[in-house]
Order: sequence, then C-alpha cells, then structure tokens
Amino acid sequence: MNTTLQSAQSLAAEVVKGLNGSIPGVEVGVCPPAVYLTSVAEKLRGSGVVLGGQNASFEKPGAFTGEIAIEMLLDVGCQWVILGHSERRQFFGDTDEIINKKVLAALERGLKVIFCIGEQLADRQGGRTESVLETQLSAGLKNLTPAQTDNVVVAYEPVWAIGTGVTASPEQAEETHAFIRKWLGQRFGQPIAESIRIQYGGSVKGDNAKELLAKPNIDGALVGGASLKADQFLAIVRAAGEVATMA
Ligand code: PEP
Repeated sequence: MNTTLQSAQSLAAEVVKGLNGSIPGVEVGVCPPAVYLTSVAEKLRGSGVVLGGQNASFEKPGAFTGEIAIEMLLDVGCQWVILGHSERRQFFGDTDEIINKKVLAALERGLKVIFCIGEQLADRQGGRTESVLETQLSAGLKNLTPAQTDNVVVAYEPVWAIGTGVTASPEQAEETHAFIRKWLGQRFGQPIAESIRIQYGGSVKGDNAKELLAKPNIDGALVGGASLKADQFLAIVRAAGEVATMA
C-alpha cells in the first residue's frame, strides 16, 4: 500500500530510463498496487520490464466485492503475481491452504507466481526455521505438477528482515536457500530444483545486493522499501547484472 498514482508512474518511468534496455541475465519486474497497474503498464511499454500484481483471488470473476481476479491482472498486462507474502499471511488471513488455492488458480489461468515463504523471528531463534519453511512449501505447493514449476519463483523472505533494515547475512540466506532447493529436489527432482529461481527478500539494498546475489543458491531479489526509490532499485538491478556476467 505504497506509492501514489504520480509516484508509481514516475518510479516506473525512472526505472525504464535508468535501465536503458535489458541487462543480460537479469529479468526485472515491478508489482505496483493494483489500482496503478494500468498506468504503470503504460510507462513500461516496450521496456522489457515485466509487470505483476501483489495479490489475487482464486475465485473466478464474479460477485466477490473488493477482490481482484487473476483474469483482471492478466487483462491489464500482468505476467506475474506475488502470492503468500508475509503481510498477507499475517494481516489478511492468507493461510497455507488459501495460498495453495491461489497458486494453483494463477498457474492454471496463465499467471506466473512469486510464491513467498519465510519464518518469524521466534521461529529462527527457536531453531524452527526449516520446519516452518517445510510446512509452507509442502502446503503452498500442494498438487503442483512438475511442469507448472516452470512458472514459479520461490521468494524466501524471513519475516524479521522485511522492512526492518536487518538483512539475513549472505551466509544465513544461502544456507536457507540451499535447504529450500534441497526440499524442491526431493519434491520435484534435482533438475527441476536447479531450474527454479529462489529469490531472497528482506531489506535488500544497493549496497548489500551483490554479496547476497553472488551466493550460489540466491537467484534474485524481492525488493520492498528499496523499490520506492528508483536509484536504489536500479543499483540492485545493476548488482544482479554484475553477478550474472560473473556466472
Ligand atoms: C517486502 O516487502 O517483501 C520486502 C522484502 O521489503 P523490504 O525490502 O523493505 O525488506
């Protein structure tokens, strides 16, 4: 629930201008609030920057006042939708079961999914990180076919690192990403696990992005606060570009 119409438009325009074409090995996307999607889409046209929604209903279009249908996101040019963000889980009642319904509905109806998981601080401190993630993964990706994984990105966002300025250390994040990849390997097989992108999210900034993204199991970043300033967002994209050319 950030930005205004004006700031969303100017952010998008500044990102397009700053990128000045595509960066090899990097896919860049923005997920503005739903009411600004159409205006942001106009600014992104022809740029290669992809568009996503921040949430969607699993219901088919119809009498569901206040909800946003998958078809509506597609209609305004979205290729992606973020599902299972910790704020949806924490404040809006998105259970693992609901998130799973949304994930399956989005994939079946043509939207790619950024599927978010992450543990609370008490879970990490209590040594429960892996069991929490395992529950979120197995419930959230229930009934997913191996073929559908082509259109899924997993975003690991430790709740204690979102918007707090506290980033997981690159080592902590890498260790957890390796665990997630191992789980994906057991569920879908190693080749698929290798091909699924696992993003890290949680206070990623221009000055810590490169170190995080250089880790072998960290394939991208899901950026909150730093995406509200074009120069910070662009610094993260450039860091990703540098890591991609090193690979
Ligand atoms: C987020 O909102 O998902 C997020 C990762 O935010 P921040 O980058 O500000 O921690």
